[in-house]
Amino acid sequence: MADDADRAQSVADAAQEKFERERLARIAASHAPRDSAIDATCADCGGPIEAQRLKTLHFTLRCGSCAALAEQRYRMAR
Ligand SMILES: [Zn+2]
Repeated sequence: MADDADRAQSVADAAQEKFERERLARIAASHAPRDSAIDATCADCGGPIEAQRLKTLHFTLRCGSCAALAEQRYRMAR
């Protein structure tokens, strides 16, 4: 009897562990340096961020046009 309970517990533990690993992997991926044009997508429109923009800014969340829009919104909010 105790064996069954132990087995069920270890299955639950494994599932929990897998879930936690995947969660951490997602977090790591979202914080990965954006130094390649391939995985650099705009946080606003989801489109690719221009390679030239990445080269000069190294880390940016938005593509050129969304950054301009965000800056406009920011200025208007002040
Ligand atoms: Zn964009």
